[in-house]
Amino acid sequence: MPLFLPNFDLQHYNTLGVPVKAQVYVSVADETELVEALRYAGHEKLPLLILGGGSNIVLCDDFSGLVIHIRLHGKTLIAENNEFIWLRVAAGENWHELVEYCLDFHYWGLENLSLIPGSVGAAPIQNIGAYGVELKDVFEELTAIDIRSGLPVTFTKEACEFGYRDSIFKGRLRDQYVITAVTFKLRKQAHLVLSYPALRDALTPQLSDSVTPKTVSDIICAIRRSKLPDPAQVPNAGSFFKNPVIPVAHYESLRLQYPQLVAYPVDEQQVKLAAAWLIDHAGWRGQVCGPVAVHGQQALVLTNPGRAKGSAVVALAEKIQQSVWEKYGVALEPEPRFYP
Ligand SMILES: Cc1cc2nc3c(=O)[nH]c(=O)nc-3n(C[C@H](O)[C@H](O)[C@H](O)COP(=O)(O)OP(=O)(O)OC[C@H]3O[C@@H](n4cnc5c(N)ncnc54)[C@H](O)[C@@H]3O)c2cc1C
Repeated sequence: MPLFLPNFDLQHYNTLGVPVKAQVYVSVADETELVEALRYAGHEKLPLLILGGGSNIVLCDDFSGLVIHIRLHGKTLIAENNEFIWLRVAAGENWHELVEYCLDFHYWGLENLSLIPGSVGAAPIQNIGAYGVELKDVFEELTAIDIRSGLPVTFTKEACEFGYRDSIFKGRLRDQYVITAVTFKLRKQAHLVLSYPALRDALTPQLSDSVTPKTVSDIICAIRRSKLPDPAQVPNAGSFFKNPVIPVAHYESLRLQYPQLVAYPVDEQQVKLAAAWLIDHAGWRGQVCGPVAVHGQQALVLTNPGRAKGSAVVALAEKIQQSVWEKYGVALEPEPRFYP
């Protein structure tokens, strides 16, 4: 039987450092404990918060319900052929430790996703992505527990309906499954993805056969460390807003007014704007609002140096959304999920 802890402080379990309490907290180390915890929540009629590394949530206030901390561990090589290996990884494994493990064993494909905080089980929720690669590019399938029935289910890549920072688990199937393991399809021969401009620029002096997945990972870690605040020092939840996708006609009219506007083509009809550019040029970079702030180097990151409740972060986010809407007519959508 897992240990249910009442009135549990979550400050050290979310990267924004928000000091709120969970009515009840339980850490689960295997599927049996997870099913017991789900049964308990059902019996006591407690709302649920499934917790990984707490790097993509905003805890606005105390959580009146059960927080289930996913601590399932283990990695299993389940199949291989000449080209690929299939690695099954439990949901509670740390994401970056998995990237390092794969680099050590020469299982290639995760290198561009180096240093993303959080757990393996949360990675499919928003189809994590960075430097030209998304989780879906290396994903084979996942297993989950159906919260209502307590039964295991397998989801293929198609069933997950991955999109830009999106999956079926943020939409139609939100709050219905707990992911217990993810199976990755990784290459035995390196296949470098160097299309992302910042990565290409950093590699230019050494673009040759000497570039390996390890070099790519090291460079990405260095870029990320120089650009993003470390949550251990400055509490934050990474990029607070998704890059908005707008119609080409809207983009063209904005570009007349703002020729420096940073944008990337999506398809013939749509363009993705750099949310950081919009926020920065609306004057928000480095702004401090009481205990919370917009980071001085990266306008997309909201920080919580005063360890305030998440509601203060959300209030700042709303002001930014309002100002970006008024200036550019563009709606910004938050990336982390707000609780309660
Ligand atoms: C400094 C920093 C940099 C970041 N950089 C990136 C980046 O480059 N790219 C990117 O995509 N993201 C980035 N993020 C966001 C974050 O790291 C990812 O979204 C990560 O996958 C969240 O993992 P987590 O375990 O911390 O999830 P949590 O914050 O614990 O949970 C996030 C959501 O997933 C749900 N969830 C968690 N685990 C499970 C599970 N096993 N089953 C079902 N639901 C679950 C939670 O209920 C919650 O709704 C960054 C965050 C920070 C703080």
